[in-house]
Amino acid sequence: MLKKIRTLAIIILPPAILCWLICSRVTPSAAVAQLDVLIVHGKVVDGSGNKPRTADVGIRGDRIVFVGNATKQHLTASRIIDAAGMIVAPGFIDPHTHTLGDLSDEARKSNLPYLMQGVTTVITGNDGESALNVGDTLLKWDQQGIGTNAILLAGFGTIRGRVIGATDAQPTDAQLEEMKALVARAMDDGAFGMSTGLYYAPQSYAKTEEVIELAKVASAKGGVYDTHMRDEGSYTIGLLGAINETIRIGREAKIPVHISHIKALGPDVWGQSKNAIDLMKKARANKIEILACQYPYDASGTNLQASLVPRWAEVGGRAELLKRIDDPQIRPRLITEMEANLKRRGGADSLLITQARDSSLVGKRLDAIARSMNRTPVEAALEIIKAGGAAVASFNMSETDIDRFMKNKLVVTCSDGSTGHPRKYGTFPKKLRTYVFDRKLISLPFMIRNSSAVTAQWFRIPDRGLIREGYFADVIVFDPKAVTDRATYEQPELLATGMLYVIVNGRVAVDHGAFTAVFAGRALRRQS
Ligand SMILES: [Zn+2]
Repeated sequence: MLKKIRTLAIIILPPAILCWLICSRVTPSAAVAQLDVLIVHGKVVDGSGNKPRTADVGIRGDRIVFVGNATKQHLTASRIIDAAGMIVAPGFIDPHTHTLGDLSDEARKSNLPYLMQGVTTVITGNDGESALNVGDTLLKWDQQGIGTNAILLAGFGTIRGRVIGATDAQPTDAQLEEMKALVARAMDDGAFGMSTGLYYAPQSYAKTEEVIELAKVASAKGGVYDTHMRDEGSYTIGLLGAINETIRIGREAKIPVHISHIKALGPDVWGQSKNAIDLMKKARANKIEILACQYPYDASGTNLQASLVPRWAEVGGRAELLKRIDDPQIRPRLITEMEANLKRRGGADSLLITQARDSSLVGKRLDAIARSMNRTPVEAALEIIKAGGAAVASFNMSETDIDRFMKNKLVVTCSDGSTGHPRKYGTFPKKLRTYVFDRKLISLPFMIRNSSAVTAQWFRIPDRGLIREGYFADVIVFDPKAVTDRATYEQPELLATGMLYVIVNGRVAVDHGAFTAVFAGRALRRQS
């Protein structure tokens, strides 16, 4: 009967009166009446830093269209998720990953290690290593489908390597212009900014002024600057010197600067987290938009060569390095400097091999390997490098520094995920489990805010990072009692558990804790 009256009304009544009759029944607005997904009874931690509150979250298409009491509003949806006892939060945003290869690979494009952590957006192309053609890569991701949203940075190392090569030469004017043009093209193709890895050769050969010139190009296009700094320990200019260099780049290029995976690397600089934070605060006071990110582990992940070999020995690339290793004129100096670098890292027992061509080395520490080879640790390292190298977990951080960085509001969460290190599979759940729920070092709203909204705002990612009407529906639902990392240094590829639902652009990618094989991620492009 009611249906008949409505049909009749639609035919005979003018639109204004019709709307008064119908629209008023489904307030707040007719637009939210029929939803695709409705998450009910959960505790919403919305990313703003505000306290948890009980609220329902309604999604239609790829957007959040309702946050409030759905029962009161008589809202219905095709899919209702009961989140009683669960936390509902914005999907995490990871500003430093090494997922360029994963996302482009048919077998790994789901980005499962991240989805299962509740990460819905990854930034990649960090450390100065990226795709030379940003546009083609983003297009490929669009066409083949990806599991999470993804953002690319223009890589300074990729660009410098292309224009100047693996040498320590300084650019000519023409080469500088060529590099600038490549940064500009990457930005026009959708990159969100430029990344550097000034610790690594050949980027380490670039002077600050060169970096500033290229950062100015990214800045003019509305981009940001992300860096693995020239030094995180006591190798060259020191941790604080490197922060000062980063701040100078921010000031002179007029660009927001992001310090990737901030740490005080090695006993020489332990305790400097305090000075590091002071420098960042001072920069903020001087209107430099500085931010840092951190992963919650006491070992960094790198390779044996990058951690021990001095940069002068890498000039010209691997072939030249191998010649120098066997050159009786050069070898003694190389060994002396590598011994000093090993000390900076905390000694031979602080380096754990996580990946190597010779698989019998994996899971062993450098001191044990050296003993079994009957050589000194540095000589053993040189043999491994000659045989193709190895990835290492380098235990070089103090708990005091890790805690101090984590508590600071200028430090967000990032994984820096790499093969062989548990951070790729565990970063975000580990921070929740260990630092929020078990140790109570930081609060849940703070952790969520500094894993979503702050990152989105700083990187200029529009309409993401908050549970808010109008925002993209990147939403996670997790069990605060069960959420945890499982990956360890011995078994680094164990997926995290406890993320019951992961919704990406409105589509359920993880359902009851299992991947749905839905590729709902998008290649995001910087909006000009
Ligand atoms: Zn890095």
